[in-house]
Amino acid sequence: MIKDRLHNVLDSLTPGCRLVAVSKYHPAEAILACYEEGQRVFGESHEQEIRRKHEILPKDIEWHFIGHLQTNKVKYIAPYIDMVEACDSAKLLREIEKQAAKNNRVIKVLLELHIAQEASKYGFSIEDCRQFLADGEWRSMEHVQICGLMMMASNTNDEAQIRAEFNTAAEFFDEVKNDYFADDENFSERSWGMSSDFKIAMQCRSTMVRIGTYIFGERQY
Ligand SMILES: *Cc1c(COP(=O)(O)O)cnc(C)c1O
Repeated sequence: MIKDRLHNVLDSLTPGCRLVAVSKYHPAEAILACYEEGQRVFGESHEQEIRRKHEILPKDIEWHFIGHLQTNKVKYIAPYIDMVEACDSAKLLREIEKQAAKNNRVIKVLLELHIAQEASKYGFSIEDCRQFLADGEWRSMEHVQICGLMMMASNTNDEAQIRAEFNTAAEFFDEVKNDYFADDENFSERSWGMSSDFKIAMQCRSTMVRIGTYIFGERQY
C-alpha cells in the first residue's frame, strides 16, 4: 500500500532530509493517501497535470515543479508553485522573476546541475553555473529566492559512479555557499536522490529526496 511505502521512506530519512513525494502520472487519490498521513510536499513535472491537481487538492500542499520547465509555461504555475527545482538557464530564472513579480510572490528555485553522463539531461554544467553566479544578474531579482542545488545521478547500477556524482554536487554546493551565499541561510538545499539511489544520496548530504516509484508504484504513461 502507498501508505506503508510512504512510511518506509519517512522512517529511513536521515535527520535534515525531507521527502518530496513525486506524484507525476499518479491520480489525485494517490496524493490524498499520502496527504492523510501528513505528507505535504509533492513533486510534478507537467504543467497541465499539476494545474489540474492543484485545483482539486487541499491548498496547504507545497508543490514543487521538478521537471524541465519551458519559459512559456512559467506564467501558469507562478500563482501557486512553491519551488521550481530544475532552473537550468538564466532565461528561465528571468521569466520566473517576472511572473513571480506579477503575482506579488517570491518563488523558491534550485539551480539544476548537469553532472550525470547522459547527454539528454538538462542543467547547468558546473562551469556554466559558476559563470552564471559570477555574472550576478540574479542578485537584483527580488521575487526569486535561490535555495540551493538540484541534480540527478546517472541512470546506472554502478554505485561508485552514482556516489561520485552526488559528492561532486555536494562539494560544489560548499563552494557556491562559501562564495555567494555565506550569509544567506535560505541557501541550504541539496536536492538529490530518487527511488533507486536515495540511500546513497542521503550519505552524500542530500537535504531533499524526490521519490516517486518506490511510493506510488510504476507510472502508467
Ligand atoms: C520522476 C522524477 C523523480 C522520481 O523518480 P522515481 O525513480 O520514480 O523515484 C525524481 N526526480 C525527477 C527530476 C523526476 O523527473
